[in-house]
Amino acid sequence: MAARRPLIVGNWKMNGLAASLAEATALADRARAQAPAAELGLCPPATLVAAMAAALKGTAVGVGGQDCHAKAAGAHTGDIAAEMLKDAGATYVITGHSERRADHGESSETVRAKAAAAHRAGLVAIVCVGETLAERDAGETLKIVTAQIRGSLPDGATAANTVVAYEPVWAIGTGRTPTTAQVAEVHAEIRRDLLARFDDGAGFRILYGGSVKPDNAAELMAVPDVDGALVGGASLKAADFWPIVQAKGLQ
Ligand code: PEP
Repeated sequence: MAARRPLIVGNWKMNGLAASLAEATALADRARAQAPAAELGLCPPATLVAAMAAALKGTAVGVGGQDCHAKAAGAHTGDIAAEMLKDAGATYVITGHSERRADHGESSETVRAKAAAAHRAGLVAIVCVGETLAERDAGETLKIVTAQIRGSLPDGATAANTVVAYEPVWAIGTGRTPTTAQVAEVHAEIRRDLLARFDDGAGFRILYGGSVKPDNAAELMAVPDVDGALVGGASLKAADFWPIVQAKGLQ
């Protein structure tokens, strides 16, 4: 099995106007100059996917959507099909982000259907899992994460078409992060689960997400089985995102 290439993905969430594309091209400029070891992606809001893909064409930075519908087309006002993201130039799509699970009531079954849709369209699904603070305090973290992994990954998932992102809900956008021991424990459990279910379970990349910043990235990225990061707030500015890219790229 080839070594897993690190992957650092920025999730812009509901942030960004056309002028923000300058941050994406600034990131691509840094990547061109310094050729990081990590694969890079940015997931802007849907309104910017096509323009960002055009602006980043031929660079080392790929583009992704933040969500997709399970169906390829139809009467689903306001939704976006995985095929549409692919058509707009995307490589990735995030599925099952905790903000989708919480704000839109998405179950793991829904997330699995969306991940399967991503595969159908030829996109890499970045499938998010993670426990709430109440679940962690109740000692249920591994049980919750394992159930989400089992429920959210379709049988057709492979190391090539699927990335797992472990994002403790209580760490997202809060400035709080788990200890490295806590991250290691969950990533090891996810790896065990992937190995038990998929022939190429050793090759899946498992990202950590939740308040990754320039000053904590090196420590988090050095944890065993952390193959990169899913980054929210700190991905909006190339100047903040770049040190996180380097934290994995330099190892
Ligand atoms: C995220 O949105 O996936 C995330 C991890 O956000 P932040 O880095 O801002 O905590």
